[in-house]
Amino acid sequence: KPVTEPILCAAASAFDFGGPMVCDSHHYGEGHINDTFVVWRADHTKRFILQRINTDTFTDPAGLMENICGVTRHLRAKIQAEGGDPGRECLNVIPTLSGASYYIDTEGNAWRAYDFVENTVCLQQVGCEADFRTVAETLGKFQNQLADYPASTLHETIARFHDTPNRYANFEKALAADALGRAKTIAPEIAFIHARKKDCHVLLDQLAAGEIPLRVTHNDTKINNVLLDEATGKGICVIDLDTVMPGLSAYDFGDSIRTGANDCAEDEPDQSRVHFDLHLYEVFAKGYLSTAGSTMHTAEKRSLAWGAKLMTLECGIRFLTDYLEGDHYFHIARPNHNLDRARTQFTLVRQMEDVFDQMLEIVCPDNH
Ligand code: ADP
Ligand code: MG
Ligand code: MG
Repeated sequence: KPVTEPILCAAASAFDFGGPMVCDSHHYGEGHINDTFVVWRADHTKRFILQRINTDTFTDPAGLMENICGVTRHLRAKIQAEGGDPGRECLNVIPTLSGASYYIDTEGNAWRAYDFVENTVCLQQVGCEADFRTVAETLGKFQNQLADYPASTLHETIARFHDTPNRYANFEKALAADALGRAKTIAPEIAFIHARKKDCHVLLDQLAAGEIPLRVTHNDTKINNVLLDEATGKGICVIDLDTVMPGLSAYDFGDSIRTGANDCAEDEPDQSRVHFDLHLYEVFAKGYLSTAGSTMHTAEKRSLAWGAKLMTLECGIRFLTDYLEGDHYFHIARPNHNLDRARTQFTLVRQMEDVFDQMLEIVCPDNH
């Protein structure tokens, strides 16, 4: 559904921005989930982010905003106590004029607003190692600042998001149904997944056994969800908190590795161009542990390597499931697009398996 000018302007006048606003109806940034806009005070002294929440993906905007308000309140107190600048280092939710955390427009869509975090850059891919390390430190710090937040009070904004055994079960269902008769063309990929059935359980078994803790996790730890200072390159603010929910540190670590520790596109069709970069893994791991490591025991550190492998495997399983079901979840731009995506993830998994001992050693040097 497109956002029309009157809908956008009505949304802009619903929030407590401190004066009359002007809207720019062009989408801002490169996010793929929400509709993001910038609105200015009419005197151009200050701008804000105004977002229409994607309620196809996030069906409970009230629960989602409760999560974000709770987590940002907690972060703000921590940042203040550490002598930081909470106005910049944390998203600040702007309430509506009636004091609510979100607004429902005349079409029934939910909107929210944040202060615009000024003088930052949002990287779309890993340019240099130093930036990747900074992103890792910033995500680790975020994790650490939320270590004492009661994770179980958060709403699950997407049910069973990283429940890998459940993703596996959904794959088995899609395979049994084989709605488009595609299964016969992907025997190697099916065998690849079946050979890793046990692996899918590793992290949740460790959680159930009390070996690793439930944490507040971000669940979308791509580098474009961390803002860096434009002048110094320092890590400033973790954004895009829609998927903040109870989870495992291995999920956040793993998804950053999946998306950042290689130089190929997620849908690279030429598998000879897909390379898992163990050096970038190490760069990220050292940065992440430098800020988050102090709250982690051995088992949780070890679980990070598993997170890298399982987030990649899980993502591949989801792409292949969608391929079997007829490509109705992930947007495709060409035939076999989801199959290419799945193959790329599996190539990365295979390469991780080749160096898995080293991956464990890097996150847990003393004991693995
Ligand atoms: P999506 O879920 O669609 O990725 P994001 O919340 O990540 O939505 O927002 C999309 C983009 O908008 C971000 O990648 C970033 O460039 C920009 N952005 C979001 N929030 C802010 C903010 N508070 N200050 C500055 N830029 C922001
Ligand atoms: Mg984003
Ligand atoms: Mg998002």
